[in-house]
Amino acid sequence: MAIYELSRRKFLIVAGSLAIASLAGGNVLAFKKAIEKERERSKYKWAMFVDATKCTECVKSIGLDKKPPCVIACDRENNVPEFSDKLRDPQWIKIIGLKSELSGEVIYFPLMCQHCEHPACAEVCLSKATFVRPDGIVLIDYHRCIGCRYCIVACPFGARSFNWYPPEEGLKEISPLVQTRGHGIVEKCTFCVERIDREVQRAEKEGRKPKPIPACVEACPNNALVFGNILDPDSDVYKMVVKYKPIRLRAELGTNPSVYYRL
Ligand code: SF4
Ligand code: SF4
Repeated sequence: MAIYELSRRKFLIVAGSLAIASLAGGNVLAFKKAIEKERERSKYKWAMFVDATKCTECVKSIGLDKKPPCVIACDRENNVPEFSDKLRDPQWIKIIGLKSELSGEVIYFPLMCQHCEHPACAEVCLSKATFVRPDGIVLIDYHRCIGCRYCIVACPFGARSFNWYPPEEGLKEISPLVQTRGHGIVEKCTFCVERIDREVQRAEKEGRKPKPIPACVEACPNNALVFGNILDPDSDVYKMVVKYKPIRLRAELGTNPSVYYRL
């Protein structure tokens, strides 16, 4: 697999295949059974559905050098700094271009932490800073992270960034709603966990189903991103997975990502 960096910080072309395997493809029954089993263990399992056909149109319309709305919203929401040294710039979402060897056609989609059920990053974490919550969100305890970067090597999706510079130096403004990170530790997408926790608390108090919306999902003008509780058959994310039989990236590795792609 060859990876070429196309522009500034975010556009990669993955020539050939990304070693994609089918998740629900042709196996909706197995998917439903797995969800039923999961329901016995947990009330919520947060998941994302990405419609790459819509992302491709968006990226083509704005051009390769501009950040799409989802990336801008993620940066603002989560205090993700921006530095001119693009090789060492933290990124919670990257836009990936996947090129067909046969037709030469390129499809684009966002790649963020896949919130794996069996995350390689957590397995190698020396200080147990990385952990999986019962609702499936993979988080880093920034106070425990010792900056060894084993997790960056272990993650098959390149979803993690190391803070080579003090993050506050790369921020124009700081949102007080999201925890800031320190210099010399690792960070990544949290599925906007602060939004999720706020919404769950509110919804449970009001006796309704929580419907948290991460910043990238809210910002997408094409409704290419759908988020929700995949354990709930009434949720949009569950319906999308059953309807489109999307794939999960690098499914053959068995990390069981919580992000589903319609390519
Ligand atoms: Fe960990 Fe990478 Fe999976 Fe995210 S995508 S949970 S960082 S292995
Ligand atoms: Fe764990 Fe931090 Fe080391 Fe990553 S860099 S493995 S989160 S201690």
